[in-house]
Amino acid sequence: MKKKIVIIGGGIGGLSAGIYALRSGYDAVIYEKNPVAGGECIGWNRKGCHIDNCIHWLTGTNMNTSLWKIWNTLGAIDENTPYAETEKFYTTRLGEKEVTLWKDLDRTEKELIAAAPEDETEIRKLIGYVRYAEACTVPVDKPMDMMSIGDYIKLGKSMENMPKVMKEYGKIDLNQLAERFHSPVLKKMIVDYMPAEYTAYSFLVSYATMTSGNGNIPVGGSLAMTERIIGRFREMGGELHTNASVKKIIVENGTAGGVELENGERITADIVISAVDTSLMYGKFLGRSYTPKDWADAYEHHADYPVISGFQLAFVTDDTFSGSDTIFFGCDPIKIGNRSFDRIYVKNYGYDKSFAPEGKTVIQTNISQTDVDYLYWKSLSKEEYKAKKQELIAAVTERVIKEFPELDGKLEFLDCWTPLTYERYCGAYHGGYMAFVTKPSIKKLKCKGTVKGVKNLYIAGQWIMSPGGLPVAAASGKFAIQRILRKEKRPIDI
Ligand SMILES: Cc1cc2nc3c(=O)[nH]c(=O)nc-3n(C[C@H](O)[C@H](O)[C@H](O)COP(=O)(O)OP(=O)(O)OC[C@H]3O[C@@H](n4cnc5c(N)ncnc54)[C@H](O)[C@@H]3O)c2cc1C
Repeated sequence: MKKKIVIIGGGIGGLSAGIYALRSGYDAVIYEKNPVAGGECIGWNRKGCHIDNCIHWLTGTNMNTSLWKIWNTLGAIDENTPYAETEKFYTTRLGEKEVTLWKDLDRTEKELIAAAPEDETEIRKLIGYVRYAEACTVPVDKPMDMMSIGDYIKLGKSMENMPKVMKEYGKIDLNQLAERFHSPVLKKMIVDYMPAEYTAYSFLVSYATMTSGNGNIPVGGSLAMTERIIGRFREMGGELHTNASVKKIIVENGTAGGVELENGERITADIVISAVDTSLMYGKFLGRSYTPKDWADAYEHHADYPVISGFQLAFVTDDTFSGSDTIFFGCDPIKIGNRSFDRIYVKNYGYDKSFAPEGKTVIQTNISQTDVDYLYWKSLSKEEYKAKKQELIAAVTERVIKEFPELDGKLEFLDCWTPLTYERYCGAYHGGYMAFVTKPSIKKLKCKGTVKGVKNLYIAGQWIMSPGGLPVAAASGKFAIQRILRKEKRPIDI
């Protein structure tokens, strides 16, 4: 008889675990608390428009990468997948000045030098290192701790220029990188997209993913991709239970034997995979005593281990709107709690015609949020929360119109959401989009994909490897099955 694997959470990590479990000859049953699976890789409809809330870029669209093979196995993309025809990573505006990071690196180099000739040397250096970083791939063949010396040598050879990038940009954060430039608009460009505490190399690698053609947006966006993965899981015989919230993992004599649902139902399993946010797994499903010390410390010290979230708004407007892709701009300060924000971005989703009725386009804005902002939102009563959202909708709308006067009278509000939305909807720790921010001064947390003291329990999801994101979530499901196969002394090449 086939062994039964119960998977908690139907995000990309859980769905990936399910598909690899089925491929390896197990029965796979997923319990997902929401009415639809997908977790953070999701989109929803409002007023005849679609709000796509995840993929800004999907790493692994280059068919020669191991990650592409994983996405293809999951049914997410194939040789014929159409991608959005976007040209930019993003644009930064400061006063009258504007610079863009194009997918075409030569174009970026020329534009940045023209905007800031005083920074030519530093610009050329940055662009050169982005080219080096284009070879960077996420190691997804097997978990790092299962890699042999030969695997490490092979990985090293495939990314032979990455040590140079790490040496130059691995020990500084984005604030320090920004200080290397004289031009105010270039300084802003460096810190606009990611939190300024992020290691500088993360920024280079993200941009390089786009310039190398390994990061694209599948047409139809996040929800359509998730639906393809769910379809693959079901076609293969997987069982997906939605509206099925897990209350705890049943552990008897140090072994996981199943899960108990919030409705009291007990489900038995030979093996359990937790594919929810790890804070939820340690906190709610098992109890804090199972939390490794370094992880417990990280949850305690959120200034050292921050997460990123956002206060987001979606609008629909005419498709004649001149702003293309993502544009950051300065604005009159907006207060959220004790913090004041003077930068917002507007992202135009006009690249995907399926998101809005003809003649219209969806635009989103985002004010970057972190743990302190989450704690502020959390401190509000229900009424205060609603009132603050209303106040911010008005404030952001006013700032956007001031920056783009053509939108005056043409912005129709669709929806707004906060870090608490991610917590409520996905159980995301402090409303985070990804795992902890990678800071140069802070030790990266390691996760071996198992829980000390509990047999037959494995961990999937983006938290198993820094910095999280879709590639890690997708690989994490495969890794969990490889760990199970290794324990059962079966081949792990799946
Ligand atoms: C706005 C935004 C933009 C992003 N952009 C990108 C991007 O451009 N590129 C990229 O690579 N990544 C991006 N990400 C990150 C990416 O979405 C996540 O890394 C990924 O979706 C995480 O997948 P996961 O399976 O690990 O976790 P999740 O998606 O959080 O899945 C966990 C699942 O567990 C379920 N669950 C929780 N509690 C229970 C319970 N008690 N019982 C049963 N089920 C439960 C949740 O409902 C959820 O479905 C973005 C995220 C956000 C929010």
